[in-house]
Amino acid sequence: MPFARSICVFCGSSPGVDPAFVAAAGALGHAVASSGRALVYGGSKTGVMGALADAALAAGGRVTGVIPDGLIKKEVAHRSLTELRVVTSMHDRKAVMAELADAFVALPGGLGTLEELFEIWTWAQLGLHAKPIALLRVGTFFDPLIRFLDGLVAHGFVRREYRDLLIVEDDPETLLARLDA
Ligand code: AMP
Repeated sequence: MPFARSICVFCGSSPGVDPAFVAAAGALGHAVASSGRALVYGGSKTGVMGALADAALAAGGRVTGVIPDGLIKKEVAHRSLTELRVVTSMHDRKAVMAELADAFVALPGGLGTLEELFEIWTWAQLGLHAKPIALLRVGTFFDPLIRFLDGLVAHGFVRREYRDLLIVEDDPETLLARLDA
């Protein structure tokens, strides 16, 4: 895999209760921009999403937000991005984010974050793309999910090779380097 120039991050539109979630988003946003990569995300200025974009912009990075027109008010679109792409549906949002990105990273978030992560992962399983997919571990947040995913292999529902497509790292720089490997 060549240098992953454009990183799509899936993460919460809420900040979560632990300040570590927003802090991790800031660290990842900074690492993406300072390594010369572009950020693609859902275009909101709230929660983990907002912290991610603000950190990448503060580090001089290029940030593209992709938001459905119906969510511009509800999710509070970020108005200081390099580019805000307004699309007409959730499906278009994911398709555009997938198209623009060389790799995908999930941070803490809720149902939307999980939906986006699992969709892009299933697309890899189906051979629709071969772009790397990763989770940034923040404290123990993702540990129950990781255990559950390993259980899916043990129970015979997911092949080990597809489970192993998911890169898991604690440190943003290490994670980004693995996306290039
Ligand atoms: P959440 O993790 O629930 O805070 O959501 C994170 C982001 O995912 C938000 O910008 C949601 O609008 C977005 N999202 C939720 N469901 C979907 C979906 N089905 N397709 C695309 N984006 C979604």
